[in-house]
Amino acid sequence: MVSVGSNSKHVCVIGAGPSGLVAARELRKEGHYVVVLEQNHDIGGQWLYDPRVEHQDPLGRGSTLEVHGSVYASLRLASPREIMGYTDFPFLAKKGRDTRRFPSHRELFLYLKDFCDWFGLREMIKFNTRVEYVGMVDSSMFGKDIKWFVRSRDKNSEKVMEEEFDAVVVATGHYSQPRLPTIKGMDAWKGKQMHSHIYRVPEPFSNEVVVVVGNSMSGQDISIELVDIAKEIHLSAKSLEISEGLAKVISKYGNLHLHPQIDSLCEDGRVQFVDGSWVIADSIIYCTGYSYSFPFLDTKGMVVVDDDRVGPLYEHTFPPSLAPSLSFVGIPRKIIGFPFFESQAKWIAQLLSGKRTLPSWDDMMQSIKEFYQSRDAAGIPKHNTHDIANFEYCDKYGEHCGLPHLEDWRKQLCLSALINADANLETYRDSWDDHELLQVAHQSPHFTQLCPDAFDQ
Ligand SMILES: Cc1cc2nc3c(=O)[nH]c(=O)nc-3n(C[C@H](O)[C@H](O)[C@H](O)COP(=O)(O)OP(=O)(O)OC[C@H]3O[C@@H](n4cnc5c(N)ncnc54)[C@H](O)[C@@H]3O)c2cc1C
Repeated sequence: MVSVGSNSKHVCVIGAGPSGLVAARELRKEGHYVVVLEQNHDIGGQWLYDPRVEHQDPLGRGSTLEVHGSVYASLRLASPREIMGYTDFPFLAKKGRDTRRFPSHRELFLYLKDFCDWFGLREMIKFNTRVEYVGMVDSSMFGKDIKWFVRSRDKNSEKVMEEEFDAVVVATGHYSQPRLPTIKGMDAWKGKQMHSHIYRVPEPFSNEVVVVVGNSMSGQDISIELVDIAKEIHLSAKSLEISEGLAKVISKYGNLHLHPQIDSLCEDGRVQFVDGSWVIADSIIYCTGYSYSFPFLDTKGMVVVDDDRVGPLYEHTFPPSLAPSLSFVGIPRKIIGFPFFESQAKWIAQLLSGKRTLPSWDDMMQSIKEFYQSRDAAGIPKHNTHDIANFEYCDKYGEHCGLPHLEDWRKQLCLSALINADANLETYRDSWDDHELLQVAHQSPHFTQLCPDAFDQ
């Protein structure tokens, strides 16, 4: 139901991934006039699999990337499907599709397509439209009356478009711009070096000696995928205190070895580790994570990215000096993504229509300062500023826009999947023991709201 009123704003949403789609829906529901600009030919963001990597710098350096997607061909979700859906649109297993609990990336793309069709979102989206510049129309105006100038380019016709908006919602994701380590000898090393951003399939590493740097999700997935095809895989981890699941995998495969961090790379192909051990390698794949990057955004220094801290942002969403006309959806990490993006979107929509108000500039800045201080005191590095890993925070966040707390089963299923992955890295996507919780989830209103018989098998 759309309610158009005198408080409706002309809003530009940048990006039609999971964050941008739900932002568009919530903004329109609140009566705003919404235009979504999306550089790709379809919706989905990371979940629109993109095999094109050949023209990319393999290390993804430079501020403008040709390819947004970082998802590899074999990727299956790391989170069970039940916890992923937006609050009013469950991620159901559908006949004839990939019905697994941890389905392939394609299935999440199809879910997003269904979401888009169900709520008629496509009509708001301009595809193949890359935003190149966003800035204030008059940068001497702070506070409520800021207007935004958006310049974009049609990727097919090269036509440049310029438009003014009352508000801009940045929903451009943060799993594209490689975060690379600095290693002695990196520039002179003669082998292949690439970031996982451009890894798609294992075949190019056939019979090679490969060093995989980083043992988070992608590093683990890619190492396991390579054991059947590469000659040797040397996984370099920050700490040798690894999970039970990874330890099991390493002891199972004779060609997969664990090492500490790399000390240096030598011109003769040697990769030297800090404990003095070394290997001669053909390739290095850096699975070292991603950085926040907004190459199009000119806020006159009012929002900066400093060692992956995007700030200052009140509640990871609003820069106090530019709020609520500039906002960000999807910045937090280590959360249950889709429902969190939805609560951000609802809050933004309600603030723009005047239904709710933000605290004063001073109070927002004070809250940000206290948040930074608490993170520093807890010894959390700056680059982990937006790693939340806290259900209570997500519940409190939802209160800003009147969204109920996350269902208990959703939290418990999230935790049980994490525990299972930790202990059974190779099998957690196909074997689990949280059947009772799963039943509770399937009987909950979240799953029965659209299709009461969904789980009557
Ligand atoms: C390998 C990998 C595995 C993952 N696994 C999981 C998982 O199992 N579970 C999970 O919940 N999450 C996972 N994620 C995180 C995933 O990124 C989020 O689920 C989700 O895609 C974030 O949505 P988003 O809309 O914020 O960003 P994105 O999905 O990145 O979408 C951003 C959109 O903005 C567009 N855009 C960017 N810049 C511009 C511009 N200048 N102009 C116009 N459009 C622009 C992009 O083309 C894109 O469509 C994974 C990510 C990766 C990379």
